Amino acid sequence: MVALLLAAGRPFSSPLGAVRPLAAASRRLSMVVEPAASREGASLIPTTLREMDADPEFQATAKQLREVGQKRLTLEERKNRRRALDALGVPDFEPFLAQRSLPAPRRDVVTTLQVNVGLYCNQACTHCHVESSPKRTETMDDATAQRVLELLAASPSVQTIDITGGAPEMNAAFRTLVAGARALGKEVIDRCNLTVLCEPDMEWLPAFLAEQRVRVVASLPCYSEKNVNAQRGNKVFSRSILALQALNALGYGAPGSELKLDLVYNPGGAFLPPPGLYTRSSLSSDPGSPYPSALSACSARIEREKTLLPRCAFTFFSE
Ligand code: SF4
Repeated sequence: MVALLLAAGRPFSSPLGAVRPLAAASRRLSMVVEPAASREGASLIPTTLREMDADPEFQATAKQLREVGQKRLTLEERKNRRRALDALGVPDFEPFLAQRSLPAPRRDVVTTLQVNVGLYCNQACTHCHVESSPKRTETMDDATAQRVLELLAASPSVQTIDITGGAPEMNAAFRTLVAGARALGKEVIDRCNLTVLCEPDMEWLPAFLAEQRVRVVASLPCYSEKNVNAQRGNKVFSRSILALQALNALGYGAPGSELKLDLVYNPGGAFLPPPGLYTRSSLSSDPGSPYPSALSACSARIEREKTLLPRCAFTFFSE
């Protein structure tokens, strides 16, 4: 449907706004998706910052960071996790293998390179394991991105580059890495939080992802608006659905499409997702509802709640 409308040279409507063909472009995915600001309000960032300022957990972490510094806090966290695992009777990994006469792990050929381009994010989710938020400033510079591409070019066994953050798309290195890796013939995965597609100044993103044939692995912790907003912040669910619909409009997730769209489930507690979690009908009863193409994987909340890691670890390993 997209191809026909563009071939006719007419603008058409997508959930993120008007979509129109670029003047000189005849390729079916050369288009501009106008920002969602007019439909959903402007950036999510002011809302995220307000929520962080009102959240006692964020405030406690910020206070600890000021008082003891990042390095000592990280060491303390490690000790706390080890103590919590000890309390559950979870053994060290190597003795665990030895007790069962299992061989020690062996390093195999590297086929995927995962790159974290920075911690800046328009959201501040309760389950975030890297403590990303709009307050984080750590970011990959272009020289480092170029070095990653050099290493990628020198590593023929690596077929896939998996780009994460933060919201990786908000980092200038993202476009460099994607375009460079695709030029090398590598598969590119974008770990996308979806709402980033609705941010002002990110209107280039959907078409760029489609043009570069990027596989989108998107986080959507639940099909319930209430649960998603509680875990990821106010307005996140509605923006995520708009973003999914915009990706669908470009061909993402359509049956038989080479544009892959996967949804990742993030449990709000120490449990695994039920089978077949995400279907079209579970996300919306609207006939234009978004559809994921492949998987409902599981990403656990481990950082911001001290007791949850050991319980999650115990659940995951025993299931
Ligand atoms: S969207 Fe992802 S990176 Fe950003 S805060 Fe949430 S979990 Fe962390």
